[in-house]
Amino acid sequence: MVRKFVKTGSTARFGARYGVSIRKQMKAIEDKRKVKHQCPKCQHMSVKRRDTGIWVCRHCNYTFAGGAYVPKYAEPTKIEAKMKEEAVSGDKDKGTAPKAKKVEKVEEELDAEEERADKVEEELS
Ligand SMILES: [Zn+2]
Repeated sequence: MVRKFVKTGSTARFGARYGVSIRKQMKAIEDKRKVKHQCPKCQHMSVKRRDTGIWVCRHCNYTFAGGAYVPKYAEPTKIEAKMKEEAVSGDKDKGTAPKAKKVEKVEEELDAEEERADKVEEELS
């Protein structure tokens, strides 16, 4: 009876209940969840799950949001990719928008000065 819980692992607690496939799926998730993960801040292998999507590093106490069962997916999700894309484009807009407005203002001021100069010339002549 040494090998009793090797195959079932963490789902041994369910006995024969709920069906094999579901227990297998759950084991796959729980095995990943219960392993200590690498901390994104101090790189120590000491990140544990506090709650759904909340991960805490037991070394530096860094708390961050992540996946429900894994702190970070290997591949960024579609939403993350989109958010990154928008963040990058948003920064560009922020960087260029005020400059464009300044250029427009300067151009308007130059136009106004030219008009004034024209008026002065007309008055003089
Ligand atoms: Zn840490």
